Amino acid sequence: MMEGRMAKVALIGMYDSWVIGLRNLANALVEKGHQVTIIHFKLMVSRREPFYLRNTLQYQTVDSETSRNEFLVNSYNTDVQPWTYSELQSMGDLLVDLQPDIIGLSTRSVYESYLFDIARQMRRVPGAWTIAGGHDASFRPEFYVDHMDFACVGEGEEALIQLADCIETGADPRGIPNLVWRNNGQIQKNPLAKPREDKDYFFSELQDRVVHYVCHNNRIIRADALLRDVPGQLNFYYTMIGRGCTGKCAYCTAGHFQGLYSHQNLSMKLRRMRDIDGVIRELITAKEKGFRQVTFLDSFLVAPKKYLLSFFRSYERSVSLPFFAQLHPDQVLGYPEVLGAALDAGLNRTVVGIQSGSERVNRDIFNRKTTHRKLLAFAETLVGRRSLKVDYHIVTHNPFDGQEDFEQTLKLIRELPKMNCSLFLFRLYAFVNTQLHQLTQAAGAAPLDIRLHDKRAVMCLIRWAAPDAVFNDIYSHFDNMSFEDLRQLYRQIKNNIKSDVDLVLEAQEHMNKQSFAVAMQLYDQALLLNPGSYDAWVGKGWASLATGTADQAESCFQAALKRYPLGTQDVWLQLGELKQRSGLFQESVKYLERARFLTSPVHRSDYGKILVDLANAHSQNGDMIKARDLLSEAIEYLGHEDRNRIVGLRNRLQVYLSDLHPIHRATAFASEAFR
Ligand code: SF4
Repeated sequence: MMEGRMAKVALIGMYDSWVIGLRNLANALVEKGHQVTIIHFKLMVSRREPFYLRNTLQYQTVDSETSRNEFLVNSYNTDVQPWTYSELQSMGDLLVDLQPDIIGLSTRSVYESYLFDIARQMRRVPGAWTIAGGHDASFRPEFYVDHMDFACVGEGEEALIQLADCIETGADPRGIPNLVWRNNGQIQKNPLAKPREDKDYFFSELQDRVVHYVCHNNRIIRADALLRDVPGQLNFYYTMIGRGCTGKCAYCTAGHFQGLYSHQNLSMKLRRMRDIDGVIRELITAKEKGFRQVTFLDSFLVAPKKYLLSFFRSYERSVSLPFFAQLHPDQVLGYPEVLGAALDAGLNRTVVGIQSGSERVNRDIFNRKTTHRKLLAFAETLVGRRSLKVDYHIVTHNPFDGQEDFEQTLKLIRELPKMNCSLFLFRLYAFVNTQLHQLTQAAGAAPLDIRLHDKRAVMCLIRWAAPDAVFNDIYSHFDNMSFEDLRQLYRQIKNNIKSDVDLVLEAQEHMNKQSFAVAMQLYDQALLLNPGSYDAWVGKGWASLATGTADQAESCFQAALKRYPLGTQDVWLQLGELKQRSGLFQESVKYLERARFLTSPVHRSDYGKILVDLANAHSQNGDMIKARDLLSEAIEYLGHEDRNRIVGLRNRLQVYLSDLHPIHRATAFASEAFR
């Protein structure tokens, strides 16, 4: 390490394309002038299998969308694509090339068995300080300081800034709050600093200074800050409006972070809300960079009512992209206006976290207190609101689930409203450091009968899909049937019974194959089941256009907007063009302006096309100057061929505008030129 200069810091995240924690740290460091590189060591991967994997490191999921035709299990990351020797070696080579002063690793307990190899690569950089942070390092720093110079407990931004400052000043880092380290074999734990409430680093104007590398599929590529140029990555922009979670679920450590501080008599609010203007600035930037959806990662979007209402209004005014968020039942049931504001702002998908149909299991095992009555009321309030898509989450493979608990879960699944909804089953995995892990380790915890729990998972999906008579018949033979028998029966049921969500997904596949008539039938069937489905109305609109029925297409798109007034860019644009075809140019401007608002200039040809359409509409309305200016702007965005055509058009328009009778001549020109 060289003193007297800003530090070079490399931060490593595993199987996480977004690395929101590392982005915070990186923003904090670049704002102090340090140089930061984030290495995405493997991206998030998943694979679908017809069965549950054994000996997994992380949870597996089943959902009614993926299992639209047959029961399929999704497995993730290390379970299906462990890293290779060459990837590990290349990551080490990259570190050697970068020569950082500090190398940080974001930790999760599921990657514990890989730590030795990763730490060895980190140590290839002579003299660099190595540090582990994140959830696992916070709850068991002792484990990490066997492999690294330091572990950081709790929130790491300030500690990492101070560590980097030590590179600059040459100061001794061992007094930095939150750090744990070994001193002659003895563990030294520095006291924690009070968490900051006045500053957040989710977004920084300087974030583009952070260099990103992606190490995946045996190669390393340099990527842009938002991984926009990495194929298959990040269609959604992820962020949070606050830090901390008000829950204390037994299978999660997030709700127990506060305890790290309270043990040292330091107060930490359960939720610290970000400045609304800061979040909106961040999201406007994301929109400008071309993101078309936002996902709020806050486990619950909990905040004071006034904050939420103000946030949603600002979001609607300035961002207006469709978004996913998990609202809290108490907030929605207690303050219906919060849900209304969220829907107005663009909420289009949400979650109802059920976990177990047994209140005993929820309360005594998972430490979740919401009653089923409340969960059902919550679901009924959400389902059918505009085009809101609702996912139900249920935990399977729980060793504490008795027969009665399981039957209560089946009963609850039956009672859930299902229109435009999906069921997600999460196979329970007791991560170390969690209360649940302690419970399962405790003497007396029943060993998991895996075959039984695999069968129960299929039964949950059968309960979701089948009418009572079919379900009852199958369930009466449950004990004598194998997992495979149940899978076969589920497949048969799905051949005969489709939900509105299934039908829309199937129709989209037919649209891709250009089987428009079949797609149209499927959209119609979906609309019979759910007349409020935005996706079905839009799909039917496209199918109508493809089969030459423009009037029908227009009424389908209008019907879609009635269900989801925010709409999507493609629908507004198409309606604008349909209005032009009908000669309604004044009206088309309204639709095209909305399409423009929802489109980022990053999507250059889409954006350019909207500008040309707008120019056409304005010229037909007689505003030739506006039309010329829009064409001039469009030229910046269009591809080579279109650009030449539009440059010619704009130049001719300019000539007409400078003629002696400009308006008269130009109007005559317009009706010809845009054809
Ligand atoms: S599971 Fe979600 S709600 Fe529960 S403690 Fe963790 S983050 Fe909070």
